[in-house]
Amino acid sequence: MIAYLEHFVHGTDKESRPDDDFVDFSEALDLQGTIDCAPNAMASKDFGGLQSVKPLALIRPATADDIARVLKAAARSSNLTLAARGNGHSINGQALADQGIVLDMRSMEENFHVVWIDGSAYVDVPAGALWEDVLKRCVGERGLAPRSWTDYLGLTVGGTLSNAGVSGQTFRYGPQTSNVTELEVVTGKGDTLVCSETENSELFFAALGGLGQFGIITRARVVLQQAPDMDVDRLLRRLRFLRAFKFQVDVGYTQFLLRVKRVEEDAKANGIWDAPHPWLNLFVSSHNIIDFDHVVFKGILSEGVGGPILVYPLLRSKWDPRTSVALPESDIFYIVALLRFNPPPPRGPAPELLVAQNQEIIQFCSSRGFDFKPYLPHYKCQEDWKRHFGNQWTRFVSRKTSFDPLFILAPGQKIFSRNLQP
Ligand SMILES: Cc1cc2nc3c(=O)[nH]c(=O)nc-3n(C[C@H](O)[C@H](O)[C@H](O)COP(=O)(O)OP(=O)(O)OC[C@H]3O[C@@H](n4cnc5c(N)ncnc54)[C@H](O)[C@@H]3O)c2cc1C
Repeated sequence: MIAYLEHFVHGTDKESRPDDDFVDFSEALDLQGTIDCAPNAMASKDFGGLQSVKPLALIRPATADDIARVLKAAARSSNLTLAARGNGHSINGQALADQGIVLDMRSMEENFHVVWIDGSAYVDVPAGALWEDVLKRCVGERGLAPRSWTDYLGLTVGGTLSNAGVSGQTFRYGPQTSNVTELEVVTGKGDTLVCSETENSELFFAALGGLGQFGIITRARVVLQQAPDMDVDRLLRRLRFLRAFKFQVDVGYTQFLLRVKRVEEDAKANGIWDAPHPWLNLFVSSHNIIDFDHVVFKGILSEGVGGPILVYPLLRSKWDPRTSVALPESDIFYIVALLRFNPPPPRGPAPELLVAQNQEIIQFCSSRGFDFKPYLPHYKCQEDWKRHFGNQWTRFVSRKTSFDPLFILAPGQKIFSRNLQP
């Protein structure tokens, strides 16, 4: 690898040679994991397929100590950035690092431990594990289940905790960020800290919904309960609902949780999985959802979105305001998810048209003064991020300054630019 880097730096075309800092950086590392200086397309793109960048290297860390070493070395450079890549299921390049380092968190997916504390069960999960792995290890092997899942389980634990993690269970139990009690985080300064509501609490709440800005989550302690039983009639008796809307399918708990896997398998079979996905996710206040329905669903989207549209209510009281997630003000708001699965052109519409349609929806909500927030947000400039966080912006910046003062982490979010002074 050193020979490769020599060539990398002392190549014939001096003008186009990459950053000299990278050589010092990689030599100093001495990792247990691996470093790939010619990363494949996996590190350059994400599920959205709307952006493509060139990272300098892909690192597969074996331990939190590897991550700490990488971060300390990056801090000694003048301009290196670093992005954790969960399963790369972002839409707008949030897990990418142009001319930076990508950490493939999937390399840290082993070491599950169920722990019992005061009669309650928890599982310590490596952040690079998929929720699908949690299903196998906890439900499959122990009959124990997290209370709050995502609807689709091919996402990493660290990736969803860096956003929120929502599903049909969120109404009752809150998002996944409300269902973890402890994290291990390597901060942007390279310090490895265990944090919780009572220990290093500022870091704990910063990292939850923190868009990867404050540290790399390496382990999460997830609250477990007995996996629910399958007595559908007993469950339905406890619900109040319009009987005419009842839709019932008889599947086991595991099959139910894997229901979106079939969408993935179908999309992969017909070439749509790898096409661009200009998805839009919004949280829209209950005060505005009727107007949203009239103008957006019945107007702008009257032709559909080429895939499922999810709409379900969420209660603000189930979300901890100390986390970094930005929410509408209203006590009740709806997640609206436009999960576009269009075939690529010429069979389907140009992705740019769909991006423009998303923009039109956001513009409409803004111009009408709706109480709404994008979920899995993405903006191009800091002014927009300030607006997104509103009165949480000062706290967000202060946390950034404490935990990642050189602005090394998660450059793909485009919130901060690398601070040049090491
Ligand atoms: C098919 C599909 C289904 C989805 N279903 C749901 C759903 O049901 N519910 C839901 O809430 N969301 C859903 N999402 C969105 C999903 O939550 C986001 O894509 C999220 O980013 C998690 O994906 P990931 O693990 O691939 O993370 P990535 O996209 O790889 O990373 C997302 C961000 O988190 C950062 N990050 C990743 N790992 C870590 C870590 N360990 N520590 C710190 N920062 C980290 C990255 O740098 C990046 O900024 C879905 C997305 C897709 C494509």
